[in-house]
Amino acid sequence: LAESNDRYEVIIVRYGTRRTTRSDVFLNHSVYGEADGPIDMDYFVWIIRNPERTILVDTGFSDAGGERRGRTSLVSPLDAWRELGVDLEAPTTVVLTHAHYDHAGNIGALPAARIVMAASELDFWLGPLAARAQFRHSSDASDLAALAAAREEGRITTFCGAYPLAPGVEVIEVGGHTPGQSVVLVQTSDGPVLLASDAVHYYEELDSDMPFTYVADLPRMYQAFDRIVEMMRSGDAVHLVSGHDPSTLGRFSALETMPDHAAAIIGRIPECR
Ligand SMILES: [Zn+2]
Repeated sequence: LAESNDRYEVIIVRYGTRRTTRSDVFLNHSVYGEADGPIDMDYFVWIIRNPERTILVDTGFSDAGGERRGRTSLVSPLDAWRELGVDLEAPTTVVLTHAHYDHAGNIGALPAARIVMAASELDFWLGPLAARAQFRHSSDASDLAALAAAREEGRITTFCGAYPLAPGVEVIEVGGHTPGQSVVLVQTSDGPVLLASDAVHYYEELDSDMPFTYVADLPRMYQAFDRIVEMMRSGDAVHLVSGHDPSTLGRFSALETMPDHAAAIIGRIPECR
């Protein structure tokens, strides 16, 4: 155990989906001179764990937040966590990559969670600009109230730049999509995994250099692309897990213990079964 506690398995749970258009997801799509067309968007939560630790990465959209926007819910993240043996009442560590409704809902269902997020992200969403229409669109007041309450209770750890959460798990702020958008680098027996969250919604964003439509800081979004490409080129990361790409699950091994809805696993640890 002592030798293996800095290696984890990473579980990708697809909890929701929707169909939209390319012009709805790629920023100023008309500049590329290509035809519009349909594109699917999947919604994921991620779990990092080994026999010693369980870390939840993002908490998905709440039932109300998904319904309000017409999203198709495939499984409640709460049910997925329970199915994986996560005790919702326990002081589990939760990384919030950013505070959008589809990543930071359900915080109220984890009353003892210890939350880790970028200081710039928390400050922005609990500050005055979050109420402006272009930002408010992507957040839910009830989720932000739950974050404010967690902060009052001293359950939020903030960081600037990068945060060594545990041996083998680093949270890295890249910004761009939101002021403190973060990614998570995890060491597994199958090599380092980069949970890119919404620094890379679609693999095509990196492959074709096409930023996502909702963006707080476009230069930083491009710089985040560059940083992630360099991490992959150098081998600092070997597996790239996107935030919303429907091809994501198919790139990794299926987690057959969750047959009712699709989930995938990287770096499986047998003792975690
Ligand atoms: Zn998202």
